[in-house]
Amino acid sequence: MSQNGKIAALIVAAGGSSRMGGGTPKQFRDLGGKPMLRWSHESFSAHPSIAAVLTMVADDHRDHARAILPDAWIETGGASRRESVARGLRLLALKGVERVLIHDAARPFLSHAVIDRVLAALVSADGAMPVLPVADTLARGADHVLGDIVPRDGVVRVQTPQGFHLQSVIAAHAAWPADAEATDDAQMVRRLGGRVALVQGDAMLEKITYPDDLAGADMRLAWETRTAMGFDVHRLEDGEELWLGGVLIPHHRGLSGHSDADVALHALTDALLGTIAAGDIGTHFPPSDPQWKGAESGQFLEHAASLIAQRGGRIDFVDLTIICEAPKIGPHRAAMVERIAGLLNIDQSRVSLKATTTERLGFTGRGEGIATQAVATVRLPMAASA
Ligand code: MG
Repeated sequence: MSQNGKIAALIVAAGGSSRMGGGTPKQFRDLGGKPMLRWSHESFSAHPSIAAVLTMVADDHRDHARAILPDAWIETGGASRRESVARGLRLLALKGVERVLIHDAARPFLSHAVIDRVLAALVSADGAMPVLPVADTLARGADHVLGDIVPRDGVVRVQTPQGFHLQSVIAAHAAWPADAEATDDAQMVRRLGGRVALVQGDAMLEKITYPDDLAGADMRLAWETRTAMGFDVHRLEDGEELWLGGVLIPHHRGLSGHSDADVALHALTDALLGTIAAGDIGTHFPPSDPQWKGAESGQFLEHAASLIAQRGGRIDFVDLTIICEAPKIGPHRAAMVERIAGLLNIDQSRVSLKATTTERLGFTGRGEGIATQAVATVRLPMAASA
């Protein structure tokens, strides 16, 4: 058998998720800012040894899958997992694939290390699959009553991707009794006398089956914390409204600028954009564009927050310092905090707003303008293959 032949991944995403309680099938649900299916698809696609990634979905989920993976190879699966895999294997054979990694979309966090271990073991075996030891005591039980303890020796927990030489797994599927269901492909290869090697699995590969698993998977995500700052100044002029921190403040002068000139929201928008290195407020809302004339700055802040949300990010904390002699900020602080928390859709305890003067020094001290400094801290999910 050639060890240099074309390797493909076959992702099985055709399930209907009855154990998730209905609704959107789990493989399409959001996990850390992207649909579950995309996690393992991206990991396979980014692996240098894998030449093709085929995803099998149910017929009525094709459009959904296409929206998630616009450029991917997607085909319709069968009535059972086994049928979906068999169809996928036949399609891969037509493409000259020699080895295949069969993977369940419900195991999103697939690292390249696991793929490498499976492929390495496949060099000298008919199949290879990742497994984990069983740490918990295993016991039989029925009707809420304990039965016999099941010996743990030699028992492993089976994961995917399972790797095979394409022709041997096709032969195993062909030979499997039509009326028997198989929970995985390795047992089918083994039934024909094939030797399936075991390699070290990964706790991150835990299968997502029940609704609670989604929350658990979310907790297993690795996060990176980003902190960025923003700064802005606007001029105080007669005949302008004073918008500050998203609140209209009664004052004899207001801030001037292209938009409503809310210097606090502008500084905070820049801080938030900074956490995802997405440029600054002028990148997204150019002052040369007439549509932003007099614009309410709350929408700038909401846009920055939506960009972070698209990345699966969470805003942990924001902190602002407004620098001016007048007006007094204290009486408006609570309203500003409430407004900012509302715009960002975070709890008010995650918003800090402070004010200071510059002891009548400089442009803020002379009342010519108002400045604001802002700092934002967000968490972003890290790619599983990193
Ligand atoms: Mg500004």
